[in-house]
Amino acid sequence: MPELPEVETVRRGLSPAMEGAVIAQAQVNRPNLRWPFPENMAARLTGTRVLALRRRSKYLLADLDSGETLLVHLGMSGRMTVSGDPLGQFAHDHPAAQKHDHVVFDMTNGARITFNDPRRFGAMDLLDTATANQHKLLSVLGPEPLGNDFHEDYLVQAFKGRNTPVKSALLDQGIIAGLGNIYVCEVLFRSQVSPRRKAGQISASRVAGLVPVIRDVLTDAIKAGGSSLKDFRQADGNLGYFQHSFDVYGREGDPCKRDGCSGIIDRITQSGRSTFFCGKCQR
Ligand SMILES: [Zn+2]
Repeated sequence: MPELPEVETVRRGLSPAMEGAVIAQAQVNRPNLRWPFPENMAARLTGTRVLALRRRSKYLLADLDSGETLLVHLGMSGRMTVSGDPLGQFAHDHPAAQKHDHVVFDMTNGARITFNDPRRFGAMDLLDTATANQHKLLSVLGPEPLGNDFHEDYLVQAFKGRNTPVKSALLDQGIIAGLGNIYVCEVLFRSQVSPRRKAGQISASRVAGLVPVIRDVLTDAIKAGGSSLKDFRQADGNLGYFQHSFDVYGREGDPCKRDGCSGIIDRITQSGRSTFFCGKCQR
């Protein structure tokens, strides 16, 4: 499931093909993904220029010169592929249409952007740009972990009196936008904080210490995604899925990677999600 760094990698991969370009033709091959597409989506997109491609949490937001913003969510299995040769950057010829190619944009610069989603948990919607932040999916989101509104004082306040495990508090999209299961496990491991500890019972200095670690973990992953973009000309044009090694996630039964720690990585279930951690050095 794509998390914030993967979505940011998709945004950076799409940006040279989309920003400033006009959607010459939008092709919509089915009435819905997770939810029905907005009415006349293909017609409302065709002929519009993409002014900017932004990201909020795990949503891509393409601001169009029509005054609307296209919201894209990749869901569980959604993939964006760029083919064609805009600006000489994309060596791929347009591949034959694949099963599950649900939405295809042909840009005036020659790029083709394909949204493929076998499980159809993805979503697209069209919002008025002026009021996009009030959309039901966006209005509930807390600050961006890499933005200025997310800082030490904010997190200390947000955790105050909270009786939920810190793992659940960090996954709460109203507290921090876009942090998912994998990266929360990595953050708690790097911070040596037990995922079971109650958010409100962690000292202010330890809570404050989570903030730079959250930024580092996400920035490292985005960097790994950036290197994968350099290679995707040789690959298949799929954006946002890259090899990334984790320190703790998915390592149940393996030795802890922390220097001097002899612990073994454990897995427990919290709020229905797997948590990987070292019971020896995470307290
Ligand atoms: Zn350990």
